[in-house]
Amino acid sequence: MARSILVIGAGVAGLAAAWSARRRGAQVTVISAGVGETALAGGAVDDVPWEQVERAARLLGSDLPAGDLAPAARQFAAELGLWDVPQASGVRLATVAGRIRPARGRDRALLDLGSLRRTRVLIPRAARAAWDADALAEALTDEPFARARGLRFLPVDAPVLRFDDERQIADGDLAARHDDPARLSWLLDRLRQALEGAGGAGAILLGPWLGARAPRAEALAARLGVPVGEAVIGAGSPAGLRFEAARDALLAAIGAARRHGRVRAVGGDPGGRADRARASRSTWRARTCRSPRTR
Ligand SMILES: Cc1cc2nc3c(=O)[nH]c(=O)nc-3n(C[C@H](O)[C@H](O)[C@H](O)COP(=O)(O)OP(=O)(O)OC[C@H]3O[C@@H](n4cnc5c(N)ncnc54)[C@H](O)[C@@H]3O)c2cc1C
Repeated sequence: MARSILVIGAGVAGLAAAWSARRRGAQVTVISAGVGETALAGGAVDDVPWEQVERAARLLGSDLPAGDLAPAARQFAAELGLWDVPQASGVRLATVAGRIRPARGRDRALLDLGSLRRTRVLIPRAARAAWDADALAEALTDEPFARARGLRFLPVDAPVLRFDDERQIADGDLAARHDDPARLSWLLDRLRQALEGAGGAGAILLGPWLGARAPRAEALAARLGVPVGEAVIGAGSPAGLRFEAARDALLAAIGAARRHGRVRAVGGDPGGRADRARASRSTWRARTCRSPRTR
């Protein structure tokens, strides 16, 4: 008989739990009170506190360790379709604060600098608060990783904002405009001109603007012939919107039921015996699905 599982929370932990339970044949209901941390994070996928580990690796003069991914984690990431999490290595991400930092994986809209060597990375100027291409280029070029790899970041004039309101709208709204294939083609033309104007480059770094429903960076890169991607920002990145879209698609694909509400309490088995709670599906459902009180 299929077991019924109630998953509380629809962040990445709840999603992974729901996915895993469905793989084992359980009936799954996911209940969530709304936005959590996953929907606020910037798209870097970490497995360790990166600053401490990087500092230790630098002190020891060794490479950053990146353990092999468990097959289930690999499968989960593949089915989510949102993240690039290399099997046995990490990625290198530029932040809007001018750091180059390691991560175990990334939302596919983020630019991975890890494979670049002795090349220039273009940063288009854009009149938006929190996007200062000149300062960013200077700070990133000065990063130890960039110096070791011979990476130079170059601010360039490329009109990546199309309408006046794009100076002020939120990153998520600008990202959503690039879900439109026509708008993405418009951006592609501007980036192509920027590449030609600069006499070529190894990559292009943009703000967090490349898609709200899905990452659009790889489509641009495929047509431009060089990697293109976003820098990581703090809270409020469109990476959260992309996660929510990918999560909803995955939960629908695996046939998990969804409920919205805040669980106030989860009733245990009154006799304290888990086996009694599991004894029959109807008993289990009655206790578990009714006992959470939602508002
Ligand atoms: C601004 C920011 C930046 C971050 N940057 C990074 C980063 O660069 N790299 C990285 O690896 N991590 C980062 N993190 C951390 C990472 O996002 C979290 O560790 C991860 O998303 C936690 O996932 P989760 O599923 O455990 O929790 P959440 O994503 O918070 O999900 C919890 C879920 O539970 C639901 N919930 C909670 N209580 C109840 C209840 N009583 N009833 C019903 N539902 C409930 C919430 O509504 C939500 O859906 C960042 C986090 C933030 C906020």
